[in-house]
Amino acid sequence: MRLRSEDTVLVIKGRDRGKQGRIQQVFPQKGRVLVEGVNVVKKHTRASGSVRQAGIIQKEMPMPAANVMLICTHCNRPTRIGVRVLADATKARTCTRCQEVIE
Ligand SMILES: [Zn+2]
Repeated sequence: MRLRSEDTVLVIKGRDRGKQGRIQQVFPQKGRVLVEGVNVVKKHTRASGSVRQAGIIQKEMPMPAANVMLICTHCNRPTRIGVRVLADATKARTCTRCQEVIE
């Protein structure tokens, strides 16, 4: 997976289609990403033993990485991610639209 935390992504599938958010966490083995403010579910919790607060809490759930597209920091459009090998042999992610290297 070519997404990383702190990337800004656009949701292209699912209930939150069209929303943008920042990636908070990536789960490479699961192929999922946790995006701020996206895929929020309400969890009903009951105060029991160690659990502190009863009631409904809202929580983001990880979603499939295939459902989001990276928004390029240069051209500001959703893009696919290319990989380019730089002169010093390190790999850099690139925007397939504007060809700029994405930090
Ligand atoms: Zn771009």
